[in-house]
Amino acid sequence: MSVLHIAEVTKTFSAGAKAVDSFSLDVADGELVCLLGPSGSGKSTLLRMVGGFEQPTSGSITIDGEDVTHLPPERRPTGMVFQSHALWTHMNVFKNLAFGLKLRRMPAAEIRDKVEAVLDLVGLAGYGDRMTTQLSGGQQQRVALARSLVLEPKILLLDEPFASLDQHLRERLREEVRDIQQRLGITTLFVTHGQDEALSMADRIVVMANGKTEQIDRPDVVYRDPKTPFVAGFIGSMN
Ligand code: ADP
Ligand code: MG
Repeated sequence: MSVLHIAEVTKTFSAGAKAVDSFSLDVADGELVCLLGPSGSGKSTLLRMVGGFEQPTSGSITIDGEDVTHLPPERRPTGMVFQSHALWTHMNVFKNLAFGLKLRRMPAAEIRDKVEAVLDLVGLAGYGDRMTTQLSGGQQQRVALARSLVLEPKILLLDEPFASLDQHLRERLREEVRDIQQRLGITTLFVTHGQDEALSMADRIVVMANGKTEQIDRPDVVYRDPKTPFVAGFIGSMN
């Protein structure tokens, strides 16, 4: 059963060109789909429309059977993590995570338990009292992920979350995120222009070009298909 249904979504910015061009996609419950493609191919715009940060010019987005196309971000069952994580620097880690739960009027004791459990999940048990500015880049991204997860979104949206980190850390976090995603069974859209990232994480890969789907398949199929210029280039670069 598909949880996320994107139907012929188009986004035209005032400049005129279509950033996303009649794009359709169904994502199954618990699936991790990577959106892969060169800079400017429309990946972020698509993700922002699913999260509600951008309105489609036409088309519709349905989550769990509910049309969310025109709902604001806070009324969607989605959680988004951006490349620049935008943590609140004047709050400690605990408060960064607790903020959204307070808005939902969750009782304080429940908030404490919930935040502790999620910090544990992302490998930051005991970090609640730290200011986010005291953390490393990788730890900050984990806090950003935790801040999304604590709200128990139905769909997790990750836009190049590791782009600013070094290669070694990226590889480690990639495995951790995949592990967490599978343990929670959370449906995920993961935007990257790192082909190695997509190949190692995804259940399916959508290769985007000019706002459209150029190819969609399992990683091993995409990897082997010589018809995909983008990925063929990657294979070439491996030799
Ligand atoms: P990607 O994430 O794949 O690099 P984007 O979705 O950011 O691609 O951008 C797709 C296209 O839409 C690009 O041509 C970009 O310049 C354009 N675009 C994105 N956001 C805006 C905006 N707010 N206003 C005008 N054009 C935009
Ligand atoms: Mg982008």
